[in-house]
Amino acid sequence: MTGPTRGAGLRSTHCPYCALNCGMQLETSEGRISRMVRWKDSPLTKGALCSKGSTAHLQVDHQDRLTTPLIRRDGALTPVGWDEAIEAAAAGFRRIKDSCGPDANAVLSGGSLTNEKVYLVGKLARLALRTPHVDYNGRFCMVSAGKANMMAFGRDRATTPLSELADAEVIIVVGANLSDAYPVVIPQAIDRARRKGATVVVIDPRMGRWVKSADMQIRLRPGTDGALFQGLLRQLVKGDLVNKDFVARRTTGFDVAVASAERWTPDEVEAATDVASQTVVDLAELIGSTSRCMLIHARGAEQQLDGTNNVLAMINVMLACGHIGRPASGINMLTGQRNGQGGREWGQRCDQLPAGRSIANPEHRNSVAAQWGIEPDHLPGVGKTYVEILQAVETGAVQGLLSLSNNMLVSAPNLSRVRSQLSGLQHLVVIDPFPSEVLDYAHVVLPGTTFAEEEGTVTTIEGRVVRCEQITEPVSGPNEIEVLCRLGASLGANESFPFDRGRQVWEEMRLLSAGGPNDYSGITWDRTADGLAWPCPSPDHPGTPRLYEQRFAHDDGLARFHPIQPPIDRQICDEFPLAMTNGRHLAHYLSRNQTKRIAAQDSKAPEPYVEIHPETAEKLGIGQGQAVSITSATGRSTVNWRANDRLRPDTVFMLYHWPECNELVADDLDPVSKMPGFKHTPVRLGPVLDLISSGQMAEQSKEKAPL
Ligand code: SF4
Repeated sequence: MTGPTRGAGLRSTHCPYCALNCGMQLETSEGRISRMVRWKDSPLTKGALCSKGSTAHLQVDHQDRLTTPLIRRDGALTPVGWDEAIEAAAAGFRRIKDSCGPDANAVLSGGSLTNEKVYLVGKLARLALRTPHVDYNGRFCMVSAGKANMMAFGRDRATTPLSELADAEVIIVVGANLSDAYPVVIPQAIDRARRKGATVVVIDPRMGRWVKSADMQIRLRPGTDGALFQGLLRQLVKGDLVNKDFVARRTTGFDVAVASAERWTPDEVEAATDVASQTVVDLAELIGSTSRCMLIHARGAEQQLDGTNNVLAMINVMLACGHIGRPASGINMLTGQRNGQGGREWGQRCDQLPAGRSIANPEHRNSVAAQWGIEPDHLPGVGKTYVEILQAVETGAVQGLLSLSNNMLVSAPNLSRVRSQLSGLQHLVVIDPFPSEVLDYAHVVLPGTTFAEEEGTVTTIEGRVVRCEQITEPVSGPNEIEVLCRLGASLGANESFPFDRGRQVWEEMRLLSAGGPNDYSGITWDRTADGLAWPCPSPDHPGTPRLYEQRFAHDDGLARFHPIQPPIDRQICDEFPLAMTNGRHLAHYLSRNQTKRIAAQDSKAPEPYVEIHPETAEKLGIGQGQAVSITSATGRSTVNWRANDRLRPDTVFMLYHWPECNELVADDLDPVSKMPGFKHTPVRLGPVLDLISSGQMAEQSKEKAPL
């Protein structure tokens, strides 16, 4: 592996958008970025980039950047110096802590932050604010998959390198919008497997552009993934397709799991999922008759009110066949955000300490407290999750909020309620490189740093640590590591925040992880250039690309089957007869706060729209040239529409990059992972007379902002 190139003004980093972390090199001229070059030796992606990645560097010197700290005075955000802004941010939190206790402050952060910033955010919450309430927007993304992996395997990481996809005989893709969300590496590896004769099975209510006519296409009813996989488990048993040796030697809980699947006969599965009973029988035969089977899944199955159950049901099937821990086999969750993997490992989750340690585990608390030089009792306990933190504002239990790289006014569910929650805050401090809708509610704004303005590491979709070099100086002055450390110092925890650059934080994190669940200790700063997969417990360890070859991560080394609860009934009804699901557009990332500013990206998708099956549109009298009103039990939106006959007729698809989507989504939560059910909202549609312009949509959003 070739490390980052130095000299000649060319330095290596990784795309700031999705968890494939495509490598790129950036050239500078007079200290600013002048050119992007493909990095042919980069880990995993070897120079591949989608259009988002190849224009990402244009955000760094963009005219819309926040460059000056702001404080709200007489209702208006007013430019001030850094010292004054940091003191105002800290003073607000101190005031709330003194009057209402430390639990009245909270932190919400993001899955795009580097590992180093994730670590500092968790440390800031626990040691400086002394609050248990710190959570992140991965609560809207990866927590159901992560929770299920922890329960089944004892570790939250993809099992198998993506390069092994090309050698699989059977590839099952569940709820993954590969064309838009994972456009490089994965579709190409699947193509290679197809050419070698692999069978590709796609389980999704909407078939993406990457799906081929020869693939086995299973357009199940939204929200019924768990029922399908329960039926498969039952059929594996009935068809004598279980890998009995693997189940006996390496797992526990098989009989209880099978008992929970007993009611799911092929006919019952057909009734619940709309998948033909013969397809259930055929698919079980296919999965159970190969030794090289990879299942990859994403948010389609996970962002459900029973998303954790859905993932556990998939894991049960893969364990029953012994498809874990051997080449070209495994089950991988496709992490979404830039650092969706590291973002859920380094302590910014309400139940977690750094390196995958649990804040509820006395041994883990002792270990982290010793390394932080504090008594274990000094650490708070388990805090509230993302939506629960916002809901606590309604009762006054939370009054102060620090928000980093986090645009909840697009990405959280039930947006009208979120607006009201943000209005109720006494003190809102926002750290972000760009202004977002959240600034309308902020009391203090601290300009953040883009991907090219600070050094750090991220952990990729496969669990590899890669390094992002600092390419250029931050346009706003201090980098975000310095900002977090200055805030920590102002809150009275100076000795815990002695850092001003990524490699210093990395050294503390690496050593702290030694002997813990996510052991990164062998990945020295020099080795971060090589793309090493954790666990990596010593400086001469090669890393662990494929997990569970000998043991699972539970103390006894065994994987756990889990009984699957009956699916949560959120079926369509007369009042709301269609199911709305959602997803990405290739041109945009999350709330568009970066990509909408880059003309080459925004011109590809300048406004939200809903996809409707042409038969459904005709039935509802929705014609070309008309907009559509979409109503759910939570809200109403008006957008233009496009026909898509690769979608189930009883399902509509909305892009989630605009608020029009989450106006409609309820804030009910998966009881295990506390993930909202983004992927299944019962709705009704009706025609509106004329197409509406993006300007009119912007006006609709503005009307909802505070005065
Ligand atoms: Fe690669 Fe994802 Fe960036 Fe596209 S958005 S260049 S696929 S990391």
